[in-house]
Amino acid sequence: MRQPYLLLDIDGVLIPFPDDDGTTPATHVRHDVVPIGRRADDSVAVWLNPDHGRLLIDVFRTGLLSPIWCTSWRWDATTLIGPLLGLPVLPYVDLPRPQITTSHPNGYLWKRDYVDTWLGDAPAIWIDDDFTGLDHAWAAERTDRGMATLLIQPDPQVGLQVEHLAQAAVWVDRLSRVGTGTPGAAPGVEAA
Ligand SMILES: [Mg+2]
Repeated sequence: MRQPYLLLDIDGVLIPFPDDDGTTPATHVRHDVVPIGRRADDSVAVWLNPDHGRLLIDVFRTGLLSPIWCTSWRWDATTLIGPLLGLPVLPYVDLPRPQITTSHPNGYLWKRDYVDTWLGDAPAIWIDDDFTGLDHAWAAERTDRGMATLLIQPDPQVGLQVEHLAQAAVWVDRLSRVGTGTPGAAPGVEAA
């Protein structure tokens, strides 16, 4: 079996969006970072949960997944965000920079066509806060064709939770046991 990828988003997953009253989860700590292309005095405030680094590394250490950033932070994910969580340097999907005003210009996540091509026939877990029903249908259809695909969709104002990574670990463990690309009674193609 091909090793599944673990595609990781950042905004709405590792960096929760502020609540309606502007607050972020108390679990998260503010950092000021300077993404590529910005002046040193033009930093961006981000909120990260220090526990996420340890939790993600626990998943990485199973050796059952190939983690990769899939985020509009692109290279900055590896150089700015990952190190703040103590994560090793991970590769990243070099997403394009489309001129769009919505993240679902065709009714589904703008990253998806690129990810679909990039994945080829590899199985994958994809954690992103911004899937639509069409993305979940895409994942189900991929799974039906033998390319096991699990979408995990955190609440963007809460972000990644322990149970999301537990779900990923159970899913990939089952997949590795079956080894056919379709994990039988999978713990859900369409995660909440
Ligand atoms: Mg996002």
